[in-house]
Amino acid sequence: MLFSAMVRVCVIGAGAAGVCAARHLLVEPCVDHVDIFEQASQLGGTWVYTEKVGYDDFGLPIHSSMYKSLRTNLPKEIMGFPDFPVPESEKSYLPAKEMLSFLQLYADKHQVTDRINFNHHVNLVIPKAGPSGELWDVSFKNLLNGESETREYDYVFVCNGHYNTPFIPNIPGLKEFQGDVMHSHDYRVPEIFSGKRVLVVGAGPSGMDIALEVTNVAHKVILSHHLKEQPRTVFPDNLTQKPDVKRLDGKKVHFADESEDEVDVVFLCTGYLYNFPFLHESCNISVEDNCVEPLYKHLVNIHHPTMCFIGVPYYVCAFSMFDLQVRYYIRSINGTFSLPSTEEMIAHWEEEKKDRASRGYTKRQAHMMGPDQEKYYASLATEAGTKSLPSVLTKIREESSIRFLHNLKHYRQDVYKIIDDNTYEIVNDAAR
Ligand code: FAD
Repeated sequence: MLFSAMVRVCVIGAGAAGVCAARHLLVEPCVDHVDIFEQASQLGGTWVYTEKVGYDDFGLPIHSSMYKSLRTNLPKEIMGFPDFPVPESEKSYLPAKEMLSFLQLYADKHQVTDRINFNHHVNLVIPKAGPSGELWDVSFKNLLNGESETREYDYVFVCNGHYNTPFIPNIPGLKEFQGDVMHSHDYRVPEIFSGKRVLVVGAGPSGMDIALEVTNVAHKVILSHHLKEQPRTVFPDNLTQKPDVKRLDGKKVHFADESEDEVDVVFLCTGYLYNFPFLHESCNISVEDNCVEPLYKHLVNIHHPTMCFIGVPYYVCAFSMFDLQVRYYIRSINGTFSLPSTEEMIAHWEEEKKDRASRGYTKRQAHMMGPDQEKYYASLATEAGTKSLPSVLTKIREESSIRFLHNLKHYRQDVYKIIDDNTYEIVNDAAR
């Protein structure tokens, strides 16, 4: 092992990613001190349900996009951490509240909770030259007493999540639409759509789920999407599927297939933007069309490798991936392996972009894993000499995603059981 000095680390955010980072950092011998800053009064990030929308008591945008009825869209068997699975229970698909309790349990078990600085909002991160390398100045505000402070660190873990800043698509006529326009970030309960004609734009996990829920109260629901594979899910009679929206005109919707309809609400389930408002421009991270760059392995800030981002890739086994990313990065800190040179990391990232483009991925899909996830996990594990994730996780993820698309109403009744690192069984099969 190479020599490594004792280091001071800052973790920004205490959602699943930040808690996972803290869990490993707190037991890492080369880490002298860890500060974990969380702007909310509790841990869990996304999994904290609140009825509030807009801004919180301190004037910060509400972070969580959680809706009241949410149950996970992946089975609990692949939602745990490698060293801390979700406890046994009858169901595979859990309510958000149970996932939040699980995260709380994980944080308590590893003595993370007591170490979190709650109600601390990070507002600026700037690199600066230190006597023996680069350091970071992190400025934060204690929201309870209004006091601001700046502290110096050797490493920064950015764990602020990326399901909180709504992406608003550029639909002609949207600004002038004569009904209501809303993003799924602000969706909590279906009753707000009672008796209305609702256009749901987007058929990602939230779009499909919410569209189905809204059919219970709305007069009619139009689900507009461009999924390559048509869902075989049988929707209620008051839901129709349409292609992309071409333009809006008053309350009229014109679709790409030249058909038109009239609606009261445009409900955007169009996803989220990566957003790092606290990073000073000298951190050299740009976000354009949801591509965060330049990052080595979607994780390391190439121009300032003492900064990492946990959780950027999506369509992954999230908590397990966070754990692997954290283990990888800590191994680069403690000298188990050395990160490549700046030039090599840039070349790697450029090569990956080229490869993705050649396979038809758009810039907006720069961090989409899906079928690439197993290769991604293996590349992290191999480089850092740490354990990868068992392929059974990705197999279950794939199965669950297919069932989500084609059996939306019932797939959450499936119950999975992991047999070994490669095999699983569906012990209760809703499709049968
Ligand atoms: P977050 O959970 O967003 O946590 C980030 C934390 O950082 C927050 O607590 C926030 O308050 C804090 N923070 C942000 N900025 C600052 C700052 N400046 N200073 C201090 N603190 C800050 N994934 C699944 O695997 N399965 C699912 O079923 C699933 N369902 C989902 C449903 C919905 C509606 C949404 C929105 C997401 C879902 N996800 C699901 C994705 C889920 O968000 C991730 O799995 C994971 O919880 C993200 O964790 P995170 O720590 O990266 O981010």
